[in-house]
Amino acid sequence: MGKDPGWNFDNSYARLPKSFFSSQNPQPVRSPKLIILNEPLAASLGFDPESLNSEEGTAVFAGNKIPEGAQPLAQAYAGHQFGHFTMLGDGRAMLLGEQITPSGERLDIQLKGSGRTRYSRGGDGRAALGPMLREYIISEAMHALGIPTTRSLAVVTTGESIYRETELPGAILTRIAASHLRVGTFEYARNWGTDQDLRALANYAIERHYPDINGAENQYLAFLQELIKRQASLIAKWQLVGFIHGVMNTDNMTISGETIDYGPCAFMDTYDPATVFSSIDVQGRYAYGNQPYIGGWNLARFAEAILPLLDEDEKQAVKLAEDAISEYGKQYQANWLAGMRAKLGLFNEDDGDETLIEDLLKLMEKHRADYTNTFRALTFDRHEETGLLGTEEFSQWRERWQTRLSRQEQSKADSHQVMKNSNPAVIPRNHRVEEALDAAVNQEDYGVMERLLNVLSNPYAHTPEQADYCTLPAPTNQPYRTFCGT
Ligand code: AMP
Ligand code: MG
Ligand code: MG
Repeated sequence: MGKDPGWNFDNSYARLPKSFFSSQNPQPVRSPKLIILNEPLAASLGFDPESLNSEEGTAVFAGNKIPEGAQPLAQAYAGHQFGHFTMLGDGRAMLLGEQITPSGERLDIQLKGSGRTRYSRGGDGRAALGPMLREYIISEAMHALGIPTTRSLAVVTTGESIYRETELPGAILTRIAASHLRVGTFEYARNWGTDQDLRALANYAIERHYPDINGAENQYLAFLQELIKRQASLIAKWQLVGFIHGVMNTDNMTISGETIDYGPCAFMDTYDPATVFSSIDVQGRYAYGNQPYIGGWNLARFAEAILPLLDEDEKQAVKLAEDAISEYGKQYQANWLAGMRAKLGLFNEDDGDETLIEDLLKLMEKHRADYTNTFRALTFDRHEETGLLGTEEFSQWRERWQTRLSRQEQSKADSHQVMKNSNPAVIPRNHRVEEALDAAVNQEDYGVMERLLNVLSNPYAHTPEQADYCTLPAPTNQPYRTFCGT
C-alpha cells in the first residue's frame, strides 16, 4: 500500500432523492495503464501527484479500485437531442464522488468509459483512447484560454478492445467538473420526478452553484436569471475563440456554466458562420453561427422544466420565465461585443463598433480568412498573414479601425496589450490534434501530444516557439469530420 494520495470525498449528490441516480461500481478492466496524468490539476485538487502516478492510482482511474470515501453512482438525466426529448443518463460514466479541495471547493470526480450502467441503453458503456485523449487536449486548451470547462485529470487504457466501425483500444477519462448537473437533469426531474424532487434538485443546484441567491425573494427565478447570465457569458466566449461545441443538446448544457462534452467539438479555421464538423449534424443545427441561438433555446427548455417553482399561478410563472429568457439575447450580445472590442484593442464604446466588427467578419468570410490568425495578425500588425492583404476592402476597413482607435484615451501600447490578451496565438487546430492522436494511438508515442499540450497551456504567450502551431492545414477537399460516442 502506497501513501494515501489525498482522497477527500463527500457525496452530496448521493443524498438527493434516489430517483436521481443508480448506485453501482465501475466494471473492472483487464490491464489498465496510465497514459497521462494532469499533475498541476491533481495538485490543485489536493492530491499528491506522485502517489496517483502509481499502480494504485491507475487502478482507481480504471475503476478497478474504489478509493476510500467514494460512493460510485450513475446519474439520471434526460435531454433534448437535436430537438427531440428523450430519457438519457450516464450510459458510460460514473461519479466517484465529490473531492473537497484544500481551498474548500467541491468538484466531481467522474470516470468516463467505465462500463455499462442502468442508463446504457444499447451502448457498451465504454470509450476509445483517441476520443478520450482528444477530450483531454481540448478541455485543457479551453481552460488555458480562460473558458469555464470541465477538466481532464487522467486517461488510462483498459487493455481491452472496443468495437465501433473497427477495433479500437479502450480507455477511461477521469473528468473533473464543478458538477455534472445539466439542463437535462431538470428536464428529467420535471418529467419523471415529483414536485418535491424538482424542488430538491433546484435547492441542491442553488446551494452548490449559486449560493449568493439563497434567500432571494423568488430564488428560483433568480436561479434562472443567473444561469442565463452564465450561459450567455460562456457561449460568447466560445464564439470569440471560434469554438464549435457540435452537440449542444440540453443534456450537454451544464448548470454550473462550464463547457461539457467534448465529443464532436472542434475549432474553426476559416471564418464561416455555417461551419459544422459533426458528422451527424446534417442540418447544421449546431453550426458555429447558430450556437448563440441554441443557447437561448436550451435555456427556454430549462425555464419550462422549473416552471412550477417560479410561481404557483401557471400564467404568472410563464410570464416570469419569458421575461427572463428575453434577457438572454441582450446579455449574450453585450458579452460578445465586449469581447470583440477587446480583440480589436477598443476600450471605450462607440455606436459604430458593432458595424465595424461585422464588416471585418464579412470580409473574413468573403476572403476565407483564418479566424484566429486574422486577429493575431491585427494584434501584431502583420497583415500579410490575414489572407486579406492586398484587398482594397481590407485597407479601407483598416483605416476605419485605426481612426476608431484614435478616438480613445488609451495608447497604441495599451491596445496592443489588450489584443494580446484577447487573441490567442494557438488554438487546438484540428490537424495538430489529429497528428498528436495518431502518434499516441497508433505508435504509443505521447511526445507529440505532450508538446501540443505544452503550447496550448499558454495560448496568450505569443512566444516564437508557438509560431509552428499557428500554421494552417494543407488545403484539402476532405472537410474535417468529428464523431460522438466513440
Ligand atoms: P452524448 O452525445 O455524448 O451527449 O451522449 C448521449 C448519451 O449517450 C449519454 O446518455 C451517454 O451516456 C450515452 N452514451 C454515449 N456513448 C455510450 C456508450 N458507448 N455506451 C453507453 N451509453 C453511451
Ligand atoms: Mg453528453
Ligand atoms: Mg459525448
